[in-house]
Amino acid sequence: MTRIRLEGITKTYGNVIAVDNVSLDINRGELFTFLGPSGCGKTTTLRIIAGFEIPDSGRLYFDNEDVTFLKPYKRNTAMVFQNYALWPHMTVFENVAHGLKIRKKQLGLTDEDIKRMVLEALELVKLSGLEDRYPLQLSGGQQQRVALARALVVQPRVLLLDEPLSNLDAKLRVEMREEIKKIQKKLGITTIYVTHDQLEALSISDRMGIMNKGRLVQVGTPQELYFKPKNIFVADFLGRSSIYHGELVSKADGLVTVRLEGVDILLEGTTPFETLPNKVAVVIRPEVIRTASAATSSRNLIKGVVDFAMFLGDKIEARIKLGALSLLAYFPNTAPVKVGEEILIHIPPENTIVIPPFPE
Ligand code: ATP
Repeated sequence: MTRIRLEGITKTYGNVIAVDNVSLDINRGELFTFLGPSGCGKTTTLRIIAGFEIPDSGRLYFDNEDVTFLKPYKRNTAMVFQNYALWPHMTVFENVAHGLKIRKKQLGLTDEDIKRMVLEALELVKLSGLEDRYPLQLSGGQQQRVALARALVVQPRVLLLDEPLSNLDAKLRVEMREEIKKIQKKLGITTIYVTHDQLEALSISDRMGIMNKGRLVQVGTPQELYFKPKNIFVADFLGRSSIYHGELVSKADGLVTVRLEGVDILLEGTTPFETLPNKVAVVIRPEVIRTASAATSSRNLIKGVVDFAMFLGDKIEARIKLGALSLLAYFPNTAPVKVGEEILIHIPPENTIVIPPFPE
């Protein structure tokens, strides 16, 4: 198991700063995800860790070894790409065996060893019996598994996954992310995952880092980032929410009171910050909103009008007009929510997040 440290890593292409002074520790055996919008620098960071790119400044360590300038093949990392990059003229067995055959002498392996290791890797990704097929005779999901087996068979120090599930359909993506997580935990291999899919990141990661414009904006567990976003960018990028600007009225007993701009509503909430500016932002996740009959306290009971409601099977998604504001809300699928009618809602203060108003 390898610990990875990035120290002030910066990489520019012409006048584009792809990675901007990123410092980070990734723990041994951890599955760490870089999440962010297209072009934010996730792939470049991953490629620097793999050794395909050399940073302009900063240092990269695997445990205590400085690997900043080490050639990729000497780092003992393995990467799985979005398009799998399988060799079409080789069978599944040959694809997976390739990396071992190249290192046969160096590792002192016999043909029997290689066969055993390949079959074990294929069993791990549930592809036993398909050794003689060619990539084109496999489904997308199966090709993805071959790519994973090919990466794992060389027993890398670090596994790098670059949008590995993007080419799969939604159902298969969910299945594969479960499996990748199981395999990763079973092997205990330090793994870095890149995706722009927030659900994938939330569900698979031990910890994750949100990137924007080359910078690492916030690092934490999925729960920390979801419940305690440090700015509007993170709150908006991760999950759905209504975000309002407001003015801080008071702060006492762990609760802050905010007057929402544009409407005369006083709202109580909690904040991850000791000190806040006078102008703040309020983040309300749709799933925390309740109808008044399900209220847990008399705080934050607010009258609104149902502007829009959709039955989604497992829930009702609605927009509630609070004066000039529009609030996204999820209600239980049997809740009496009728478009055009008044509704008394409860926004639990303990689930209402108050943060500085800065976008990033
Ligand atoms: P995506 O999700 O779209 O793959 P990303 O977050 O992985 O995006 P990167 O591929 O790391 O982003 O790119 C970060 C920035 O660096 C982008 O503005 C991109 O255009 C630029 N960039 C990346 N590679 C190169 C290159 N080889 N030459 C020039 N510019 C590059």
